Amino acid sequence: MNEKFLFIETFGCQMNVNDSERIVTMMADLGYAPTVTPSDADMILLNTCSVRGGAEEKVYKRLSHLRSLKKTKNSLILGVGGCVAQQEGEQLLAKFPWLDLVFGTHNLHLLPDMVRGAEYGERRCETTFIDNEQRLDLFPPVKGASRLSRFVTVMQGCDNYCSYCIVPYVRGREISRRSADILDEVRRLADDGVQEVVLLGQNVNSYGLKSAGEPDFARLISMIAGVEGIRRIRFTTSHPKDMSDELIACFADLPKLCGQIHLPAQSGSDTVLSRMNRGYSRAAYLDRIGALNRARPGIAVTGDMIVGFPGESEEDFGQTLSLMEEVRYADLFSFVYSPRPGTKAADLPEELSRERKLERLERLQELQRRITREINESYLGTLQAVMVEGEGKRPGQVSGRADSGRIVNFSGDPALIGSFVTVRVVAAYQNSLLGELQ
Ligand code: SAM
Ligand code: SF4
Repeated sequence: MNEKFLFIETFGCQMNVNDSERIVTMMADLGYAPTVTPSDADMILLNTCSVRGGAEEKVYKRLSHLRSLKKTKNSLILGVGGCVAQQEGEQLLAKFPWLDLVFGTHNLHLLPDMVRGAEYGERRCETTFIDNEQRLDLFPPVKGASRLSRFVTVMQGCDNYCSYCIVPYVRGREISRRSADILDEVRRLADDGVQEVVLLGQNVNSYGLKSAGEPDFARLISMIAGVEGIRRIRFTTSHPKDMSDELIACFADLPKLCGQIHLPAQSGSDTVLSRMNRGYSRAAYLDRIGALNRARPGIAVTGDMIVGFPGESEEDFGQTLSLMEEVRYADLFSFVYSPRPGTKAADLPEELSRERKLERLERLQELQRRITREINESYLGTLQAVMVEGEGKRPGQVSGRADSGRIVNFSGDPALIGSFVTVRVVAAYQNSLLGELQ
C-alpha cells in the first residue's frame, strides 16, 4: 500500500489538541501518516473552534484557500471537525462544495468510516449529539506516546451556561470519564515513558460530581499521583465555583501536583460576573485564591479575562484591573467579548464601540505584561526543578518547564532531554527564564 499523508490543523483549546491526537491515531490505522506540509497531503482536516467570531472566520478563510489545492489534486480529501462543524453542520457542505467531510464533536468515532467513503467520492456530514454515557464508549483512544507530557481528557462538555459561551451548545452535556478508564490511560502513558499528565476538561473540578460511584476530582488526582512513572500532574480548566477545599488541599499534600493553576475569573466586577452567570462573586474568587496561596505558597495562577462584556462600565473595568493587581496572575489570556449565536448574552445590547473595547484590552494587557515581568524577575537567583523537554531556541541550549509552568532555557547537552535537572535562574524575560545547570 502506498503511504498516504494527513495534514491536520488544530484551532482553539487543548481539548481540540487532544481530539486531534485521537484523530491522528485513527488515521494511522487507515494508512495515513502525519505531514506538516499541506501540499504533500492526501487528506487535510481542520479541527475547529467557534468560541469567538474571529476563530470561526479563520476557518472559513482557510477553507477558501484550500479550494485551489483541491483543484490541483482532485483526490485530496478535505474535512472539518470540532466546534464549527458542530455548529454549522450540513450548511458547510453547501457553502463549500469542495469540502468532503463534516464531523461533529461527538462523532470522532465515525471518521474512519467517513474517510473510507470519501476515498470513493462520498461527501458526508455527521453531527449527531450523543448526550449520554454511550459517548464515553465511543471515545477513540490515543496512542503513539513518545513525548514526556501528554493530555488526558477526564471529562467532556459543560453544563455551566455562562451567558457569553457557546461551548455547552457545541460540546454538549458535561460527562465525566470513568476513573478506571482514566487510570488505564495514565498507566499506559507512563509505560510509554510519559512523565507528566495534564488532565483536561472544560470544568475539571466538577469531575465525578454527577456520576454515582466515581471519585471527585481531588480523589482522582490522588489516584493518578499513585501511578508509578508519573512525576508531574497539571490540570486545566478549573471553575472558581467548584474549587473545593479538598482540591486545594491536594496542592499542600501532593508533591507531584505542580504549583500552577488556571482559574479564570473573566471579570473583577460583581455586576458583570452576575450577568455572565458565573456563579461566584469577586470576594468568593479572592477567597479561593487566598486558600490556594496558603496551601502552596508562590503558586502560579493563570486566568482568562473578557473585556467589553455588554454593559461593562469604566468602573466595572477598573474592578477587573484591581482584581489582577490583587491576584497577580503569572499569565493571563484576555479576549474582547464576541457575541456568539444562541447564547443569552448575544441578546444583550452592546453599548461599547470596538475601539473602546480594544483600548481597554490594551490597558489590561499592558498591566499584565508588567505583572508577568515582575513575577519572572522574582525567580532570579532561585533554584528550579526543570523537566527538560527539548532543544532550546538558541544553539547549544535545551528547554523545559519549571514546576510553575514557566519555560526555562539553559546551556546543556541534548542528552538531558527527558530528565529532571536543577537550574539556577540567571535572567528573566517576558515569556521565559534563562538558567544555569547546577
Ligand atoms: N471552560 C473554561 C472556563 O470556564 O474558563 C474555558 C472555556 S473557553 C474555550 C476559553 C475562554 O474563552 C473562556 O475562559 C473565556 O475567557 C473565553 N470566551 C468564551 N466565550 C467568549 C466570548 N463569547 N467572547 C470572548 N471570549 C470568550
Ligand atoms: Fe464556557 Fe462557562 Fe462552560 Fe467555561 S464554564 S466552557 S466559559 S460555559
